[in-house]
Amino acid sequence: MNDLLVMKFGGTSVGSAERMRRTAELAAEQSRKRPVVIVVSAMSKITDLLLDTMRHAEAGDRAGMETNLAALHSRHEDACRELLPETRQAAVMAAIRGIIAEFERIANGMAMLNERPPRSVDEAVAAGERLSALLISECLNAEGTPAAAVNAWDVVVTDAVFGNASPLMEPTREKAQARLFSLLEKGLVPVVTGFNGATADGRPTTLGRGGSDFSASILAAALDACELWIWTDVDGIMSADPRLVPDVVVLDEVTYAEAAELAYNGAKVLHPRTLAPLAEKRIPVWSKNSFAPQKRGTRIMPAITAPNGARAVTSMANVTLVALEPASAELSGVQVMARALDAIARANVEIMALSSSSYRQSFCFLVRKEELERTLQALESGLALELAHGYVHPIHVNDEVGLLAVVGEGMQGKPGLAGRIFTAISREEVNIIAIAQGSSELTIAIVVHRDGLEKAVRAVHHECGMGH
Ligand code: ASP
Ligand code: MG
Repeated sequence: MNDLLVMKFGGTSVGSAERMRRTAELAAEQSRKRPVVIVVSAMSKITDLLLDTMRHAEAGDRAGMETNLAALHSRHEDACRELLPETRQAAVMAAIRGIIAEFERIANGMAMLNERPPRSVDEAVAAGERLSALLISECLNAEGTPAAAVNAWDVVVTDAVFGNASPLMEPTREKAQARLFSLLEKGLVPVVTGFNGATADGRPTTLGRGGSDFSASILAAALDACELWIWTDVDGIMSADPRLVPDVVVLDEVTYAEAAELAYNGAKVLHPRTLAPLAEKRIPVWSKNSFAPQKRGTRIMPAITAPNGARAVTSMANVTLVALEPASAELSGVQVMARALDAIARANVEIMALSSSSYRQSFCFLVRKEELERTLQALESGLALELAHGYVHPIHVNDEVGLLAVVGEGMQGKPGLAGRIFTAISREEVNIIAIAQGSSELTIAIVVHRDGLEKAVRAVHHECGMGH
């Protein structure tokens, strides 16, 4: 099946009956030309709603649970009513209620135990994708394209890191090919749930928030697809966030590495882990807008022939800078760094940028605000002795920062570019607090004072001629 296309539709592309119908049309159109596998997110905001319901459950707040469950029912039942012919409605309504009942059963367990174990969360939260896969497959069937909903826990095999699992590609390949190729051979379009999977022994997992893109790339690689199309509600990968910069452009082509760097540094269009499974087979990806499907979108390629300088600038406001400095000459900065990084890695915290000073032996790194508490706990226990004996200065936290990242393959071919970027930021009187450049020279990450973040983004975008 060497012309297989995998298409992934995000939450807004399946956000209402009307959007689902458009999505089914886009899928049907391609499936008339070649084999197609669909991957879907939950309807927009549904994953948040499910997670919130489980938090209410843990807190024993029955009223909060009921309100959320009512919203969950009406959102999907309304879509079902609007979407499907009367003859199918009773059966699909029953299926919807069945999936929600399973969710409710797990949430009730949480309410009884006042506990929200990650494994149960993963099992329960997949309900969102199961509901949207059901509705999309039913819509395809109703419109004359035979389709079948597939729960990814039957095809995507992962490790057991609940909430942030990683795929095991060999077993995934076996299961996905067996199941999905046999559906395709029967003339059915598989509609697979994004976001979830299961361990080899069948325990449900999820791939992390926004993980449906990752699901789609895992399946594209496992099925040796020839292309992956990721449908969102924006025109493609842009040179900056259009809410911050007026003259952004949609990039025609970016490399895997550029797209991954942009995603890691805050661009919302793709999940950061999406490109990794595709690298070996060099499967091209298109980022397209399901609200404007006639637009070209961005093509994401393993490599492009003429990389040209800085392509795009991203920003993140919800970050915090953490600094550590040895207080005694007996302890080297490298030792402190090693222990700190070890503690942070064990706490499963992601470091967004890291910078060190060899003279003062100090170093600082950036983490997401929501991971700060976990980071501090990890550092306080990992460096407990050093902190207690005063070998390390008290941990310093700076909350008033933002991260800006300038990304572009071939930036190293532009002498003076970094200098120009820093000058452009300084000209706006924005304070640069730290700078980190990856060894690939693909990205320059700059930590600035939070108040100046937006101004700095605009200045860099302009200075690098990224816009029109
Ligand atoms: N529904 C999941 C989330 O909201 C996965 C996704 O949409 O990609 O995180
Ligand atoms: Mg997404």
